[in-house]
Amino acid sequence: VKNKGKGDYQVFGREMYDDFIRRLQLQNDLRKSIEKDNLIIYYQPIIDLKTGKITSIESLVRWQHPELGFLNPNKFLPIAEQSGLMISLGKLVLNKACNQLKQWQEANLIPENVCINVNVSEQQFEQGNILQQIKDVLNKTQISPHNLRIEITESIIAHQIQNITKILSEIKKLGVKIAIDDFGTGYSSLARLRNFPLNQIKIDKAFVKPLNTHPKNIKFLQGIITLCHNLELNVVCEGIETETQLEILQKLNCNYGQGYLFSKPLSQEEFSLWIMNQI
Ligand code: C2E
Ligand code: MG
Ligand code: MG
Ligand code: MG
Repeated sequence: VKNKGKGDYQVFGREMYDDFIRRLQLQNDLRKSIEKDNLIIYYQPIIDLKTGKITSIESLVRWQHPELGFLNPNKFLPIAEQSGLMISLGKLVLNKACNQLKQWQEANLIPENVCINVNVSEQQFEQGNILQQIKDVLNKTQISPHNLRIEITESIIAHQIQNITKILSEIKKLGVKIAIDDFGTGYSSLARLRNFPLNQIKIDKAFVKPLNTHPKNIKFLQGIITLCHNLELNVVCEGIETETQLEILQKLNCNYGQGYLFSKPLSQEEFSLWIMNQI
């Protein structure tokens, strides 16, 4: 770095500056989109591996940006997190998703035991009064608490947010279900998770992907699934893409599955068509 010319520093500085402006612009655009209720939710079915029937629907946020086009969460959730927009974004998704479930229920498109899953961020726990948000949305939409499941990541538990156990217990007391998302990618062990009021573990797709090729992974998943069942937690495997993976997971008594083999995340319209074709 030392012996580089002055021009290189300028280029570096310019790039940083551009990046900063771009982020600021995106942050502004995102704030406006949230205010205008302009985010889109996609829906992906979660399947009961015994019956092949749908058991839940995960809501996954998308953003149609005026210039940049259709954006996946990895393109804008980090910005939402850094700018504190995650709280209003999360609230918007929670409300939209529960409303949508209500509509599908009223249209008799889904069986009454099917849950809507909503991803909830750490910030919603820290500053967002998530418990009140959940009470409000249940009140407003009149969906049963048993039809709502929140998905939280291991980091929420690992970071020891104040009162986290109490908040989770209150949420569970309402009848709302709680799942740990992306299990296996964070720091927590099942031994730690045991102390939290959870119903479900979602095993990250990183553990499902190598199932076809590395037999050792089968043993590993078998261990996790057995342990979860002993702790009275049901298990979802994410990222099921092949019949072979499905067959292995069925043999391991994995309860539920999610992945492209069943369906990609779908727009509201696409999902309505998908579910009609299931019957
Ligand atoms: P996640 O909660 O683990 O969601 C599952 C992700 O895996 C989704 O990515 C989904 O499209 C993808 N996926 C599903 N099946 C397959 C498969 O068979 N193969 C592969 N390769 N991928 C599959 P997506 O929609 O891009 O979302 C990424 C992450 O963004 C989510 O991971 C979640 O952590 C976060 N996220 C999405 N929506 C929200 C939201 O409304 N609030 C919060 N806090 N986070 C969200
Ligand atoms: Mg999730
Ligand atoms: Mg996940
Ligand atoms: Mg994941």
